[in-house]
Amino acid sequence: GTEVTTAATRSGHALPYQNPRLSTKTRVADLLARMTLAEKVGQMAQAERADVAADPSQIATLGLGSVLSGGGSTPAENTPEAWADTVDAFQEQALSTRLGIPLLYGVDSVHGHGNLNGATVFPHNIGLGATRDPELAERIGHITAEETRASGPQWTFAPCICVARDDRWGRTYESFGEDPKLAARMAQMIEGFQGDRGDLDDPDRVLATAKHFAGDGFTTFGTGEGDYTIDQGITQASRSEFGKLALSPYVTAIKKHDVGSVMPSFSSVDWTEDGLGNPLKMHAHEELVTGWLKEKQGFDGLVISDWRAIHQIPGTYAEQVAISVNAGVDMFMEPFSGDTVGYPQFIETLIAAVESGAVPMARIDDAVSRILTAKFDLGLFEKPFTDRRNIDEIGSAAHRRVAREAVAKSQVLLKNGRHTLPLDGGDDVYVAGSKADSIGDQAGGWTITWQGNSTHQIPGDTILDGIESAARGEVTHSPDASAPVPAGAHGVVVVGEHPYAEGFGDVGGPRWGYDPGEGGVLRPALTMHLSDADTAAIQTVCAAAATCTVLVVSGRPMIIPPELLRQIDALVASWLPGTEGKGVADVLFGKRAFTGKLPVTWPRSVDQEPINIGDSDYDPLFAYGHGLKTRR
Ligand code: BGC
Repeated sequence: GTEVTTAATRSGHALPYQNPRLSTKTRVADLLARMTLAEKVGQMAQAERADVAADPSQIATLGLGSVLSGGGSTPAENTPEAWADTVDAFQEQALSTRLGIPLLYGVDSVHGHGNLNGATVFPHNIGLGATRDPELAERIGHITAEETRASGPQWTFAPCICVARDDRWGRTYESFGEDPKLAARMAQMIEGFQGDRGDLDDPDRVLATAKHFAGDGFTTFGTGEGDYTIDQGITQASRSEFGKLALSPYVTAIKKHDVGSVMPSFSSVDWTEDGLGNPLKMHAHEELVTGWLKEKQGFDGLVISDWRAIHQIPGTYAEQVAISVNAGVDMFMEPFSGDTVGYPQFIETLIAAVESGAVPMARIDDAVSRILTAKFDLGLFEKPFTDRRNIDEIGSAAHRRVAREAVAKSQVLLKNGRHTLPLDGGDDVYVAGSKADSIGDQAGGWTITWQGNSTHQIPGDTILDGIESAARGEVTHSPDASAPVPAGAHGVVVVGEHPYAEGFGDVGGPRWGYDPGEGGVLRPALTMHLSDADTAAIQTVCAAAATCTVLVVSGRPMIIPPELLRQIDALVASWLPGTEGKGVADVLFGKRAFTGKLPVTWPRSVDQEPINIGDSDYDPLFAYGHGLKTRR
């Protein structure tokens, strides 16, 4: 910094961009005017923690604008302090550059800061959709922001305001539901993350991201016979359907909540072609990203690409970069992720594209202005290092109380034969099923690791813990229901899905799917069917217990065959409740009433998918909005 230091010293005070008394607009313009092309393009590049961990000095030499922790990419020691130390060490590198532009650090805090061991893990969005409580979503956003920012990151890639129209989609649980109006209402979570723009520099706020723009919740792969739902596929909808189902929640996110960033979807739309006959990828969709989002809706935040998503645009890397920058993407998530082309090549390629005229300088200036605006609004020029004052609030009792409330409100009572629920506190209870005592299963994907894992042990209470603390009677636990059911005991069988994240479809097999273990091994498609072991546990308990209640812990509806449903007295959709299993017990034992309503249609069979309210031949097992109530 000779030039900067000299100028600042000579005038006796800071340069305009360093002066917090000036408006963000003035500061951005001043800083932009001082930047070289390489410095500008560096701001548009985002690396991954694992990429830079071994040699953080790259942040300074390349002048990187941002680093993220992708799903599961945590510091060696997964504590708030280690997270904050990591972010701050990277920040020192950024501050050592000529202009001292601070780094923006992003993470997927999609159900609380689930990456961080000890964080409060809330129900995934599907459960929050069941609460129909936007104000609760806002409180959850605020707590998540506080836990995230106290441990370093100032930016979350949340909320997903996707509209899940086909429950075979592997990201159904990241959606608030199948109705775009519900997704739009629950987008109030953004207020909790960000507060007002003026609050962004507070130690309990983060920049939010509305994702994935747009149409991610109803894509297929292929266009003919044998189509199947798949993540990152092709959204097949007319323009008007697309507007209603995919775009409408973004209007609310932008106009009402002033969301700070938007992430385009990996998917493409079938009504626009790329000139080569391919459906146009959203990362290349200038009409939607620039025309609709930025110009028509007046979105003035930054557009962050999804993980290496531009590599899916047909063409050479130089074309992929130029097309997506020109389409309106501002920052590029370009980790190496095992590949040889990543953020350094992105920077080189984009510099060359500007020099050759393939990308106009005005587009670069627009992108960089948006990025710098976020950094100024977040107060990073004044307070670049982690403000750790709220670190003790991470996973606090007060935060967990809100999560517990959310869990209770998210439970949907689908069937309540013989008035089985609520159970009496004095009842003896027999607990079985693979998900009764598994915090990893309760938390689902995007927890500690990208895919989540049944075996994760994180601070919190399982559903069994909740039942044990609520019941005054005898509690017997037998996961496979092999222990005899004591006479008169009420049965509770907790069944459901293993954790997973992102890409698979149930029909036609997965394009790719991962083993829930850490190995990332390809395995057969996960299905919406219960496992044989869970089905057997239900049958055993329902035959032997005084009454039987089945709780389904899953990211989406699961198929309950009619003969099985007849044997079940009470059926509850528990979704992916997170760390506070006591919230489930609260409704089971009547401490709170059941009030949750289905955020998605519950089909009779997988063949009915996609099935959504408003379909002409709508004949589900349980309709959208269904949810029985109990008294406290
Ligand atoms: C997902 C995004 C996520 C990003 C960063 C991608 O694979 O599609 O939702 O924000 O990874 O972890």
